[in-house]
Amino acid sequence: MSSSVIREILKVTQSPDVISFAGGLPAPELFPIGAVRQAASTVLDRYGAAALQYSTTEGHLPLRQWLAERAGITPDNVQIMTGSQQGLDLIGKMLIGEGDVVLVEAPTYLGALQSFNPYGPAYTQMATDEGGIDLEALEVQLAALQQAGRSAKLLYCVPNFQNPTGRTLSLERRRRLVELTARFGVVVLEDDPYGSLRFTGEALPSLYELALDMCGGPDGSHVIYSGSFSKVLVPGLRDAWVQAAGPMIRKLVQAKQGADLHTPTFNQMIVMELVEEVMPAQIERVKALYGARAQTMMAAMKAHFPAGVSHTVPEGGMFLWVTLPERIDTTALLPKAVERQVAFVPGAPFFALGGGHNTMRLSFSSANDEQIGRGIGALGQTIAEALG
Ligand code: PMP
Repeated sequence: MSSSVIREILKVTQSPDVISFAGGLPAPELFPIGAVRQAASTVLDRYGAAALQYSTTEGHLPLRQWLAERAGITPDNVQIMTGSQQGLDLIGKMLIGEGDVVLVEAPTYLGALQSFNPYGPAYTQMATDEGGIDLEALEVQLAALQQAGRSAKLLYCVPNFQNPTGRTLSLERRRRLVELTARFGVVVLEDDPYGSLRFTGEALPSLYELALDMCGGPDGSHVIYSGSFSKVLVPGLRDAWVQAAGPMIRKLVQAKQGADLHTPTFNQMIVMELVEEVMPAQIERVKALYGARAQTMMAAMKAHFPAGVSHTVPEGGMFLWVTLPERIDTTALLPKAVERQVAFVPGAPFFALGGGHNTMRLSFSSANDEQIGRGIGALGQTIAEALG
């Protein structure tokens, strides 16, 4: 079955009778609707027609300044994006030529593969374990490429609470990843939409922050950081940003000009109204809810899943990853689960070069506790039946 078939099956799951752990939707009951309404009104009062006029491709300067200050860089190192998904597309457009080697985690974010595919990359999968990317294996891969007179053009990764696995790259591996990629001349695209949503454990520095120290400041950095307001405010405003070396940003500005001229001015101004007063408390609410739901889901899996099924233990974000015994194919399991009114995403499409037939991604962000209990119960029955 192809991923488009999976999409067809998942359409069924939009019915209210089906409990869906498939979508990656933020919990809508937490959206700060009143604050957005107030901010929209304030923006129109303050900026008038300028809020509705064309504006600069780089983005609303106060928002870029706010982001730059937080990161200890200058606004010239910040480009506003229409969703971080646009950043993945435009960075792919900028950097990937037909046949270029692009390193991705196995598994990786499906949406990144969709963004990169049209530019014709030759994917190389990086092995992963509980601590994220296996750096020993990566060093061997990079050295082998170098010996063959080649190099990787881009390394794409999601170090915090990865989509789809929920795993986090350890600090020691982060340091080593930045050092290795600098040594082998590989540009890193660090996709970090979930970084602020840590509900347990210690916050870790981003690859971008580590590279600032190791590579002599923002314009020497080979790491491109992609951040987003989708998961910490609302996804529908489509506001996100990229931090990178000045020359990289200037190229990105050109690519963005060709794509959509600029991110909606009104939306950027609304986000700027919200970042100081509303976003910090919003992040706390989101973390508390997702942390509790992750616990509920893991407790339900312990109670209802048969022996031989394991899962990751995320410290934040919206996803966890389930591995079933080898003989189960989760793509074939999905229609059976949907018959029992529960849905998940099979793991196979998250692998650029195949693998993961016995894995699945579960999202714990948008189902309530009662639905999680019932849905995991139904999924446990589906798995038990398949195991026979
Ligand atoms: N990267 C990752 C890893 C994601 O999970 C998502 C959202 N599913 C995105 C990028 C895109 O987010 P947005 O365009 O809303 O910023």
